[in-house]
Amino acid sequence: MEEQRKSVPFECRGCWHVWEEDYLVRSADDRHGNERQVWLVAGVRVPPPSTYAVCPQCGGGQITTFPEGYLARHPEARLAATPAAIAEAALLSPVPPRPIV
Ligand SMILES: [Zn+2]
Repeated sequence: MEEQRKSVPFECRGCWHVWEEDYLVRSADDRHGNERQVWLVAGVRVPPPSTYAVCPQCGGGQITTFPEGYLARHPEARLAATPAAIAEAALLSPVPPRPIV
């Protein structure tokens, strides 16, 4: 039996929220030579991530997953999914404030 930690990135199709969940994946051969995978979160068995995920932001069930490590290679995906950060940046003027005389 083999154990592997996996961080699976998710994206919500409803609100474009992006997040990651950590899993422990146990792989074992059944007695017929097929590999079986068991997914665990905090020691509790869960279905494989793509089939049950619910968006923590809007509660939507239309979720896609990315390959593991996707967010590390594409940090803009996480940034783009944070509208508050974008709105704040848009409010900052590129012109430095003029001193009041
Ligand atoms: Zn959502």
